[in-house]
Parts: sequence; C-alpha cells; structure tokens
Amino acid sequence: MLGVMVLLTRKAEFSSAHYYYNEAWSQQENERVFGKCANRNGHGHNYTLEVSVAGEIDPVSGFVVDLKTLKEVIEHEVIQAYDHRHLNLEVPEFRSLIPTTENIAISIWRRLESKIDGAHLQRVRVYEMPDLFADYCGE
Ligand SMILES: [Zn+2]
Repeated sequence: MLGVMVLLTRKAEFSSAHYYYNEAWSQQENERVFGKCANRNGHGHNYTLEVSVAGEIDPVSGFVVDLKTLKEVIEHEVIQAYDHRHLNLEVPEFRSLIPTTENIAISIWRRLESKIDGAHLQRVRVYEMPDLFADYCGE
C-alpha cells in the first residue's frame, strides 16, 4: 500500500498524584479557582494516554511504525517518569507548570516529539477521567 497514510494510536496508563496551585496567588485565590484541587497534599488519578502517529505504511512490514518500539518509547519517556509519582514534586516540568490535563498533554508531546522515528507524532490525548480529556497536536 505505497503512499497510503495511516493514523496509528497506542494506549498506555499511568497513575499520578497532583495538586493545582498558582504560587503567584493567595491561598484564598487558589481555593476560589481550583477548589479542592488546591489542597497541597494532592490527590490521585488513573490517567489514560493515547499517542497517535501518522505515517506511510511500510510496504515490506505493513507497519506505520514498529509498535514494540513505540511502546518502549512511551514506557521509557512517559510512564517511568509519571507513573506512581507526585507530578508537582517529582516531575521536573511541573515544578513551574500546573499539572492540569492540558499541561500534561503538552509535556508528554515534548517528551515524545524527538524520540519517534519513521513517523510523525500527530496527537497526544490524555484522559484524566473517562469523560474528561485534553488533546495536543503540536504548535
Ligand atoms: Zn486532579
């Protein structure tokens, strides 16, 4: 299938703790905007991640990308860094960035962007809950 572009998606899951707090605001302002999420002891979510890559199907393998390699990249770059971690306290990018679902999607994109060979990173989707997700598709 020469020249045929396909979008391929790999799912992964991770569990992380976080809180929402803007250091530039007072405690009251944080509680007004973020509600219970401003509690700095944190709370947890089971996140679902979907990483979509686009590319041409290799006429020999029939693959867009090697799914095993893609799984390993997600595991190494994202799951090992985020799973069973407190995002605000243990993940460097969230020391100065509030770990909302939106910001998590952007951060995962940045972690993966240069690591995917042979295909184009098309979309990162992060579910905080089954009915709430954020998509980031690059600049
Ligand atoms: Zn939360």
